[in-house]
Amino acid sequence: MTQGNVRQDAIAAICKTKTVGGVVDYKTRDLSDVFGEHVFNDSAQRAKLPIKVYKKLQETIKAGKELDPSIADAIALAMRDWALEHGASHFTHWFQPMTGSTAEKHDSFVTPTDNGEVMAKFSGSDLVRGEPDASSFPSGGLRATFEARGYTAWDPSSPAFILDNPNGATLVIPTMFLSWTGEALGKKTPLLRSMDVLSKQALRVLRVFGNTTAKRVLTTVGAEQEYFLIDKNFYVNRPDLVCTGRTLFGAKPPKGQELDDNYFGAINERALSYMAEMEYELLRLGVPIKTRHNEVAPGQYELAPTFETSNLATDHQMMTMEIMTRLAGKHGFACLMHEKPFAGINGSGKHNNWSISSDEGENLLNPGDTPHANAQFLLFCAATVRAVHKYAGLLRVSVCGAGNDHRLGANEAPPAIISVFLGEQLSDVFGQIEAGTASSSKTAESIEVGVSMLPKLPRDAGDRNRTSPFAFTGNKFEFRAVGSSQNVSGANTVLNAAIAESLDFAATRLETDLAAGKDLNVAVQELLTEMIAEFKPVLFDGDNYSEEWHAEAERRGLLNLRSTVDCVPLVTSPESIELFGKYGVYSERELHSRQEILLENYATNISIEAETTSMMAHTMILPAALKYQAQVADAVNSAKAAGVEDAALLGLLQEVVSTAGAFRQAAIDLDAAKGAEASDDALVFAKYQHDTVIPAMLKLRELGDKLETLVDSSCWTLPTYAEMLFLR
Ligand code: ADP
Ligand code: MG
Repeated sequence: MTQGNVRQDAIAAICKTKTVGGVVDYKTRDLSDVFGEHVFNDSAQRAKLPIKVYKKLQETIKAGKELDPSIADAIALAMRDWALEHGASHFTHWFQPMTGSTAEKHDSFVTPTDNGEVMAKFSGSDLVRGEPDASSFPSGGLRATFEARGYTAWDPSSPAFILDNPNGATLVIPTMFLSWTGEALGKKTPLLRSMDVLSKQALRVLRVFGNTTAKRVLTTVGAEQEYFLIDKNFYVNRPDLVCTGRTLFGAKPPKGQELDDNYFGAINERALSYMAEMEYELLRLGVPIKTRHNEVAPGQYELAPTFETSNLATDHQMMTMEIMTRLAGKHGFACLMHEKPFAGINGSGKHNNWSISSDEGENLLNPGDTPHANAQFLLFCAATVRAVHKYAGLLRVSVCGAGNDHRLGANEAPPAIISVFLGEQLSDVFGQIEAGTASSSKTAESIEVGVSMLPKLPRDAGDRNRTSPFAFTGNKFEFRAVGSSQNVSGANTVLNAAIAESLDFAATRLETDLAAGKDLNVAVQELLTEMIAEFKPVLFDGDNYSEEWHAEAERRGLLNLRSTVDCVPLVTSPESIELFGKYGVYSERELHSRQEILLENYATNISIEAETTSMMAHTMILPAALKYQAQVADAVNSAKAAGVEDAALLGLLQEVVSTAGAFRQAAIDLDAAKGAEASDDALVFAKYQHDTVIPAMLKLRELGDKLETLVDSSCWTLPTYAEMLFLR
């Protein structure tokens, strides 16, 4: 075999790659045995725990009651036995620090005894509290004080599970990450707080509508995950993918997604085999993976679970990303979850399907079968839209980040402008309610809340308007602006808190009206009319990509925060401090810490991208260009020596020389831009990177991509877009 360059070798290797199968076999394993087999779930708890302890634990889980500390030891004992039966040797408190990923520190069950032997020990205190210290995680100043310790606290509402590895297994306990003073150092605590406040306010509204039995209202989430799979042989030869998760160079391929031939197309065998194993592992962990399909871009896929309560859905989403990443290697892939791995090709998002339901199983965003149920539905729906309108800025902030900047605000759906799609029927209903009471004589077709039936609302999928960032899809809303790599807890925390405020507003009004003797239907109708008039500017059913929408949104006074640096100051805006402070979701100090972390994270990401761009320019692209330049120069000289001169050939030499020269200059310019001293003010520095460093990177990239189309393919070592997207 002739030796090519690393890129050509990678292609040769891929031609020989075989599909990895044989791991999953549903002919020998029953699906129902597989699901949750690695989870200390209800049936495992029932089997292992004394009945009294089991009941108390269930109360904590179902009603959100505080755990009785006296039962912790019994639970720990049962959990340990169960874990040992499953081959676990270690346990870990699993938490979600502000890095955006998850963290774990494993401790062995092995504990030496006095007589020189060992025993497997795991006590109630081991279960309930951990002290990973973990002082290197970003805390945004929260841990600068003398009490800098961080600890983890068990979250009983998310069941423990066993994580297998090829050489053992670990008992994983989902936990919150807190400072010693009780401040949230991680992402789970604010989410749980937001779920509690939403429950409290939603219950008030349900009571007004005569529901006296519901004890808790739960928010539910189903997060659809988009991702790319590329062959690992390519991945390892792309320092940009390895270091930053996205390609920093790469000419437009001759074929991209123009033919729409990938969307919902037949799934490639290797990819399918990977999905099957990944889903199998997730099912064992109790993650209800439901759907898989090819997405719009070549090499892009999507996975969706069945929805669960926000907290569990978030934990499961994080575990999903971990398993996806981990198993990709085994199948010879790299799984890319960056929001924009390939410029010019569709990026990846995470559609956050969101609803609220009572603990009695009633989906509160489901239009009902009776006028009464519909009145309640309309109120919950209106409260949601009001919140999205009023807190659009905070929602936008909840999904900002260096990666997601490439989707939002960069001519890709959804846009940075937060608007709500209601669909034709529901928009019409809201329109009629508003018009009906506004004019003294109601029109014939006006909706009378609590009396008229709603028209049948189509319950279909998001396909009706794929460009909307926040769409009603029949019995839930879909927040489509979340980035594919992001932890969904941030977006859901803001959603829950904002909607809790809306429900608080509505409940207070209705309670007052009813106490004053007003009829419920009349009170609801009046309130809805008022709310609709207020939030109307946020409603938009049209094409969110269009230029006209940008102009129209500006006329309507809607925010258009295009980049992370535009978003960040809102984290500690008076509105944010007021909302989150009022409901105890984030303290002011916690907000300041988050703002600092966001900025730091943005700046660090851009720095790494700039360093990687520069390194690739100097050590990979320029050398390839110079090699080719010499080749062309040789050709020109030898032709000349043979007595032939050709202007076009000379033109090529000139073009290569001038492009390579301009490229080198652009690299020097980028080096100067990125080398500038960082400002002490984090926002000033982030803005500098946004305004100066990113454009310098883009300029360099443009020239680099031009070189890719000029240079001899055998000199070019970077796998190309077409190769990465299509070869597998
Ligand atoms: P669509 O086709 O509209 O996208 P699907 O039924 O396929 O609707 O659901 C898409 C995602 O929305 C799935 O993850 C699903 O579990 C989730 N979902 C459905 N109902 C709810 C709900 N009530 N709350 C939260 N998520 C939901
Ligand atoms: Mg969808």
